[in-house]
Amino acid sequence: MDKEQLKENFASALKQENLKRTPQRFAILEELVSSDEHRECTDIYFALRNQGISVSRATVYRTMDILVKYDFARRLDIGDGIARYESKVGISHHDHLICLECGKIIEFLNRDIESLQQSICNDFDFDMIRHTHQIFGVCPDCKSK
Ligand SMILES: [Zn+2]
Ligand SMILES: [Zn+2]
Repeated sequence: MDKEQLKENFASALKQENLKRTPQRFAILEELVSSDEHRECTDIYFALRNQGISVSRATVYRTMDILVKYDFARRLDIGDGIARYESKVGISHHDHLICLECGKIIEFLNRDIESLQQSICNDFDFDMIRHTHQIFGVCPDCKSK
């Protein structure tokens, strides 16, 4: 998806939510898609502030909700009560290994797991919309400490 198309899609999402198309909201979209990391709202807030974009924390939180709702972003719950977000724009599906020591998130895609999930759904005549698969443990760096 090119940048103009992306902006257009986001503009129509804002319209559906009866929200104004402010430069701040578009800056949040751009910040989201500029990185493939898994970041907290606070990280995105500070990234924007560092670029001299004045935006409130509340606007970041609310806009991230919209970005998740309209499939621009994925929200990750890694069990510490703080939501992380990653861009879904131009990013293919993957699952996560999460280090309980340092919070590092490692991405993986396993064809066998993907097809097993599909066959489970088939067994139950269940249409899969999405899935999350998270493995919690200790990463190599933390193991060697
Ligand atoms: Zn670790
Ligand atoms: Zn990810």
